[in-house]
Amino acid sequence: MTNDKMILLNPGPVNLSDRVRNALLRPDLCHREVEFSQLQSRIREQLLQVYGLGSVGVADHRHRWAAVLLTGSGTAAMEAMISSLVPADGKLLVIENGVYGERLSKIAKIHGIDYITLSHPWNAEIDINGLVKLLDENTDITHLAVVHHETTTGRLNNLAELASICQERRIKLLVDAVSSFGAEELNFADWGITACAATANKCLHGVPGVSFVILQRDALPLVDAIPRTLYLDLATYYQQQERGGTPFTQSVQTFYALTEALQEMAEAGGWRARHSHYNQLASLVRDGLASIGIKPLLPLGSSSVVLNAYDLPDGFSYEEFHDQLKAQDYIIYSGQGNLAQSIFRVSTMGAITHADMERFVGIVKQIIDRS
Ligand SMILES: *Cc1c(COP(=O)(O)O)cnc(C)c1O
Repeated sequence: MTNDKMILLNPGPVNLSDRVRNALLRPDLCHREVEFSQLQSRIREQLLQVYGLGSVGVADHRHRWAAVLLTGSGTAAMEAMISSLVPADGKLLVIENGVYGERLSKIAKIHGIDYITLSHPWNAEIDINGLVKLLDENTDITHLAVVHHETTTGRLNNLAELASICQERRIKLLVDAVSSFGAEELNFADWGITACAATANKCLHGVPGVSFVILQRDALPLVDAIPRTLYLDLATYYQQQERGGTPFTQSVQTFYALTEALQEMAEAGGWRARHSHYNQLASLVRDGLASIGIKPLLPLGSSSVVLNAYDLPDGFSYEEFHDQLKAQDYIIYSGQGNLAQSIFRVSTMGAITHADMERFVGIVKQIIDRS
């Protein structure tokens, strides 16, 4: 049985606000009716507004970018972005410094896309000199794919720097912003972001089941190009959503929750307010854990505000530590792969308060004291 007040410190799905949860109870709706069409159009608009690309933003931006909504988790949006936007005669460079960068490569491989990788160990910063060298040696690269916030370690990759390298060379930039959209800076216009994939149930505080790609309209393939995929073809979704339709059944209730979550976020001050809230919670945890000798995996300034990874306390396996915290209603998150037995991760996305995190730090202290 699950407790009705488990605090989720995993990087999505997140704790919902009552307001978002209640939105799930709105009337049943057919996805071919005008009410659904309005709901979908409203979300597409709200998503653009998160980073000032919507109707209240600069008119040019609205003509340049569009949001495309898919039913599926964040990986669906990643796969739709890569498989739909790299043309048959294009060549992709994927930067890897964690699980999600490696996932981008897997997607390219599965879809038979011509690609090369710039790989790093999971805890490493992107090697900019190495990148420039690789691009100099491979002048046929048309697209670059990278993860903004690499959730594997909590590292925030320097997108501004990567974007300027891409702009100099007219390379199209495809971003996995699944765990940063809504909480970290994404300067679409200045950075010339071609497309970014994200999801409802991370920094936007919605329900899992809907993900999206924000793309430059002119990055879509020509109408007569044969898509690599039926279900995840962005061009098909885009064309139908522009006319208020949808190619397939969408997760209607999840859409209700997302529109409410976006409204709630806008009222609370948008992505900047969310960034500063997360930053306060992350600092509270970082300082609290530092006082009992638990060290962060990355140096201060390399992590996002969304998630931080920490070395496991001495003498604890991840499972023991996790279970003791779970008994007190907190869900931490394990490391992946080689990091599984050495770190734990704490995300502060979702409807979580300062008091929740103060209590968390207190409980960690008690667990360590008892050992
Ligand atoms: C969570 C996440 C994803 C997508 O994971 P899903 O389980 O498919 O939602 C993709 N990229 C990053 C960086 C993530 O944090």
